[in-house]
Amino acid sequence: MTQHSHPAYERIPAHEPKPPHQIQKVRHEIQHRYPIVTQVESLSPSFIRILLEGDDLVGLPSMSFDDHIKVFVPDGQGNEVNRDYTPRAFNPEAGILELEFVVHADGAASDWAQQVKIGDQAHLAGPRGSMIIPMDYDWYWLIGDPTALPAIHRRIEELPLDAHITVIAQVDHPEDQRQMMASTSSRQVHWVSSLEALLDQVQQLDLPQGDGFVWGAGEGHTMKQLRQLIVTEKGHPSDYTRISAYWKTGATDLDDENPS
Ligand SMILES: Cc1cc2nc3c(=O)[nH]c(=O)nc-3n(C[C@H](O)[C@H](O)[C@H](O)COP(=O)(O)OP(=O)(O)OC[C@H]3O[C@@H](n4cnc5c(N)ncnc54)[C@H](O)[C@@H]3O)c2cc1C
Repeated sequence: MTQHSHPAYERIPAHEPKPPHQIQKVRHEIQHRYPIVTQVESLSPSFIRILLEGDDLVGLPSMSFDDHIKVFVPDGQGNEVNRDYTPRAFNPEAGILELEFVVHADGAASDWAQQVKIGDQAHLAGPRGSMIIPMDYDWYWLIGDPTALPAIHRRIEELPLDAHITVIAQVDHPEDQRQMMASTSSRQVHWVSSLEALLDQVQQLDLPQGDGFVWGAGEGHTMKQLRQLIVTEKGHPSDYTRISAYWKTGATDLDDENPS
């Protein structure tokens, strides 16, 4: 008997181009890793860079700029808690991983980053998966507060040099405005100093022509408003939007969530 496949499920022959903008989700086996701290550097008033090295970082699978790993830190009461951090840069052959911690008033991970010393052992787990957002869009908006900057810096480094990128970023101190890319007519950075100003700046900008991807991360209430602004008010397709809460005012241990 001859089988007739439904047109929607027909296989695309290997030689035909794939449909554009295919987001790929990849799962990784979760591994616990215990590397050694080999560098601690204060980058600016709000950021501490920590370099970790170890054999169990060899082969670390981080396939997307917005992956996260769990960092286990003491909570000050004899327990270990974990918090999410972006693999800012890594060398899976050499077993080296770089993280950037935002320093804030009161948090176990923020405290750990301020106290940790070269030679200390760290405890990490993950990443548990990667959501690979393709690089075939006409333009990219990258929006966020300080916690989003490690991912934004990494995304810019990974996108093609001729990609059209607009960054709208909030930082608490002028010295936190680290150079991320040369400003040209197709690559622009807007720095703002408050979360209200972040939303105002987004409001003022028109979406460019063509297919674009809007990525945003940061404080949860602000990200909810950002999503409203991008998808509901500006009419950007939600399929081409990824906006995540990275922390929430008044809440501890927030796992990543999409506030849609
Ligand atoms: C996918 C993902 C990736 C992330 N990547 C990074 C990263 O690379 N670098 C980074 O610094 N953070 C990153 N974060 C955010 C980080 O996980 C949170 O800020 C986390 O809550 C910090 O833990 P803590 O123990 O210092 O504070 P918590 O114990 O979680 O919180 C204590 C108090 O501090 C407040 N708080 C938490 N974070 C902040 C902040 N940034 N600013 C001001 N107040 C805060 C909370 O509202 C709470 O009141 C990421 C989060 C996610 C979900």
